[in-house]
Amino acid sequence: MSGSGGVAAASLLEEFRSLVPVEQFEGVYDRDITGESFFGFPLRSIVEAERRLLATDVRSVAYFSMEYGLATSFYRPFESVRPISGANFFNRHYAFSNMRTIDYYLSIHVDKRLDLPIYSGGLGVLAGDAVKSAADLGISMVGIGILWRRGYFKQNFWFKDGQVPEEMYWDPPTYPGLLPLTHRVRLSLRHDEIAIRLWKYYLYSYDRLHAVPLLLLDADLPENPPDVRRLTHQLYRSDNVWWKIMQRAVLGLWGVEALKMLGYSIDCYHLNEGHAALAFVAKALEADPAQRQALRERFVYTCHTPVAAGHDRFAKAAMGSVFSDPVLALVNEYGTDPVHPGTINLTHLAMSVSRQINAVSRKHGEVTRSQFSAFADRIQTVTNGVHHHTWISEPVAALLDRYEPQIGPWRRDPTVLERVDRLRADREFRTALWKAHQQNKEALSALLEKWRIRRDVFTVAWARRIAMYKRPSLILHDVDRLLAIARQVGQVQILLAGKAHPNDNLAFTHIDEMLRRIDALGEAQDLLRIVMLENYDTYFAKLLSNGVDLWLNNPLPPFEASGTSGMKAILNGVLQLSTLDGWMVEAAPRDLGWIFGWRHEGPEIGSEANLRLAEDGRALYGALTEAATLYYRTSREGALDAQSPWIDKMINCIAAAGFFSAHRMVTDYRTKIWGV
Ligand SMILES: *Cc1c(COP(=O)(O)O)cnc(C)c1O
Repeated sequence: MSGSGGVAAASLLEEFRSLVPVEQFEGVYDRDITGESFFGFPLRSIVEAERRLLATDVRSVAYFSMEYGLATSFYRPFESVRPISGANFFNRHYAFSNMRTIDYYLSIHVDKRLDLPIYSGGLGVLAGDAVKSAADLGISMVGIGILWRRGYFKQNFWFKDGQVPEEMYWDPPTYPGLLPLTHRVRLSLRHDEIAIRLWKYYLYSYDRLHAVPLLLLDADLPENPPDVRRLTHQLYRSDNVWWKIMQRAVLGLWGVEALKMLGYSIDCYHLNEGHAALAFVAKALEADPAQRQALRERFVYTCHTPVAAGHDRFAKAAMGSVFSDPVLALVNEYGTDPVHPGTINLTHLAMSVSRQINAVSRKHGEVTRSQFSAFADRIQTVTNGVHHHTWISEPVAALLDRYEPQIGPWRRDPTVLERVDRLRADREFRTALWKAHQQNKEALSALLEKWRIRRDVFTVAWARRIAMYKRPSLILHDVDRLLAIARQVGQVQILLAGKAHPNDNLAFTHIDEMLRRIDALGEAQDLLRIVMLENYDTYFAKLLSNGVDLWLNNPLPPFEASGTSGMKAILNGVLQLSTLDGWMVEAAPRDLGWIFGWRHEGPEIGSEANLRLAEDGRALYGALTEAATLYYRTSREGALDAQSPWIDKMINCIAAAGFFSAHRMVTDYRTKIWGV
């Protein structure tokens, strides 16, 4: 430090310390936080974000979500001079394939830090992408979530047992950028007072000029009883009803209390899913009945699923054993399920207290309006999108940079990607796009080399949460037919990945069945290679969605509210093989690949139990044959047909990615929902 810069830096650090009181700052965190630098990033952006959240003349949003998938392992990772505990790395991954001997002896070595393990799947990744885009757009926001000290879980595939979950451990104190605050948020419910510790993490904008703090709540304090300490251990683990209710209380009630303690001035409370609905109750407790109407003007709610199991319901008696009478009175007033009056329904609570409600795709909007007809006039649509800086691959980004004069400033504003369409007739661009894709495929095949995954073989992936309505095994429904396609058209590689919720027994049995079918294909490994990767996470989501030729999305309509992994794929020119559901209903007219299978129409939502595997399996194989045929016509043994319709579809994909970006999504939230 020298001259006036040094003085400015010293006063900036002082201001940071008064705004963000960190436990053990001296001797521990002061090694990574100086006047100039916050773990390698500009400290100034943080101080400005904190100032704006305190200012009463800045309109700020508090975004509540049970989970956040931030991809911190590869997107803007913080640097630390302190040693990072080995528990914060996750380097060895196993797989299950139809080359079983390889699976026994080999693993995939991934040289990376663990992503902050506070998410399970798409809901969390969406929350992370939304917060990052809010930072990019310079919106004043704070995210509220939970510091899951045991993450979600570690997944093992065991032949004849299916998925075997294992508890995971990581080390928050040495996770770079994660700060324990000195604050304790204390609240009493019906019984004991419970203390919550606060942690902070910051999401920087892509240009590092703005930041959004994430406030993470942690009940694992020595002063709390053992059952309370466990509340914030494992995401979506709640062995009994008390546990489940209390987790929602931590997020909603303690979350609001934490905002108050920090002195943030919040205009809009955004409930990302019904988990956080009790936040309204916390605010309403302080308001007199006349003010409550005005309070409802400040709440908005995003509904993410039409699946019944996705909506929290609790018996009133169970709620009564947890909450004090004033809390119960409010919960009863706003949250009583209209069909089952003995039940509290958090979705109903969230809907009845929110000025704006939104679904996450146009199709989901129609379904939600018919499912919750009493609120139909308030239900809007904001179609999901993905954070383009996180999900774009380097080769494709470099190509778009080269063509920036024709496309425009796509890094700052990804909606200009629409203009990639203008390059359709440019032979050089078409060839370069194919090459960029080949580079991504090369990276993927290098990682899976031991399984003999090759870059010149047609490659399909299905990777997402293993839930029944997503139909994880559809592509394995008739393996003889799969083999026939490979024999007739050319070799096929199929990559699969995903976690099933440990309490989802149906999904569990399903994994077992998938492993059996894959195993039975051992003889055919020269024609058909199938690899199922353990521990699907954001790192693998990026690798797979960027590097395969075809992204398979086969949910049973209309149960997929949106789906976002396909959006990560199209941003990189990866084609779609999809049923007509969620975001794909809006994307299908753009010709991003192949649409197949049963179509949902009319107001009846139908049954999740009727999975239509036989008929949709046949439709899938038909479309897969077309895709494989066009792939091998486009490129065989290194020769490329640059005029191939495959490349037109790749261009359609990238052009559509502008709309399906979190930048567009957050801009929509800002204008249509938040009013900030
Ligand atoms: C993007 C993503 C998802 C979402 O997948 P969809 O089923 O397409 O919505 C799930 N898990 C991870 C790890 C992701 O990165």
